Amino acid sequence: MLTFEKIYSMGHEEVVFFSDPSCNLKAVVAIHNTILGPALGGTRMWPYKTTEEAVEDVLRLSRGMTYKAAISGLNLGGGKAVIIGDPTKDKSEALFRAFGRYVNSLNGRYITAEDVNTNVEDMEYIFTETNNVTGVAEIHGGSGNPSPWTARGVFRGMEASANKVFGDKSLRGKVVALQGAGSVGVHLGRLLNDAGAKIYFTDINETNIQRFKTAVPTAEFVSTEDIYDVKADIYAPCALGATVNDKTIDRLKVKIVCGAANNQLAENRHGDMLKEKGILYAPDYLVNAGGLMNVSIEFEGWSEEKAVRMVDKIYDSTLKIFKFADENNLPVYRATDLMAEKRIESIRQIKGKYLGDVTHKFPGRKSKH
Ligand code: NAD
Repeated sequence: MLTFEKIYSMGHEEVVFFSDPSCNLKAVVAIHNTILGPALGGTRMWPYKTTEEAVEDVLRLSRGMTYKAAISGLNLGGGKAVIIGDPTKDKSEALFRAFGRYVNSLNGRYITAEDVNTNVEDMEYIFTETNNVTGVAEIHGGSGNPSPWTARGVFRGMEASANKVFGDKSLRGKVVALQGAGSVGVHLGRLLNDAGAKIYFTDINETNIQRFKTAVPTAEFVSTEDIYDVKADIYAPCALGATVNDKTIDRLKVKIVCGAANNQLAENRHGDMLKEKGILYAPDYLVNAGGLMNVSIEFEGWSEEKAVRMVDKIYDSTLKIFKFADENNLPVYRATDLMAEKRIESIRQIKGKYLGDVTHKFPGRKSKH
């Protein structure tokens, strides 16, 4: 159940339920933290079995967005929305426009985008009702598909990790075990192949497997279970979260974990275990921030040049976190959280002072002079 104790403990500012029976809209928006700027995060559509399940998800995801934006140097806060429904049956123009009208009522405190099971077409319906949406069509000044940008950022994170572990950022001759040949996976596969890496990959979707084989003919397919046992330099989780867990961690023979999936560590202690095993963990929410960076550029007018410049900075940011982790003898996941929290706190401090208003109006006062 959603309680104030729960909201306090997770640090959210606002949780809003939106409903409209006329189009069967059941949505929850969670705004976690807006110290750095408006809360930006996608809208996920999922057939949650209970409202509680949807609320749990939106609380967790919105908090993750606060950390992702903060560590990426973006002037954005963390927020997320979930729509309860079956994306194959329940989507309609009215549903997304009703949702867009409600998003508009938040006065820019929350800005939405695509997420699991929502796409550019859905964003276009939302855009009919509010400006507070990103990921709209390129013809409307949007930034298009975020996945190639996410893949580019993950690739930069891998280069930084290789630099730290092998003393050279080049991925030529490195072996990568890639889990998930989806939208990000296939773009990452191409980049790795161009860089001269050897790829072993897995997936459960036959269409995506075939697409990956066409994109990277030299890649070798392994079963979903065998991916953890591949003698590789890098394990790249690009499918699901929580794949670094009690069952897999002792099987990993890699030196680096770096991929696109959110929440790769089942629990924080698995990050401690990776450190003990001498496996370098590239922080998931930093290296997979390329998609968020890309949509954030829509505020100032998107261009490919700006996107390249911003996403490529993930290389330096990742090295910076490794350095901070080493200097403070911290596991990387903890160092990343601390750096994100430090940035939010430092900006909170500078915003705490009253620096004057342009005009003060006191209607009804009489002049003393
Ligand atoms: P996607 O749905 O296009 O691809 C995921 C792939 O994983 C699919 O091909 C699916 O069949 C496969 N898969 C599912 N279960 C599997 C299993 N047990 N073993 C092997 N493969 C399995 O998603 P995506 O957009 O490529 O995103 C991949 C991951 O990166 C997700 O965790 C997503 O949350 C995260 N992410 C994506 C973006 C983005 O821009 N798309 C941004 C940040 C984070």
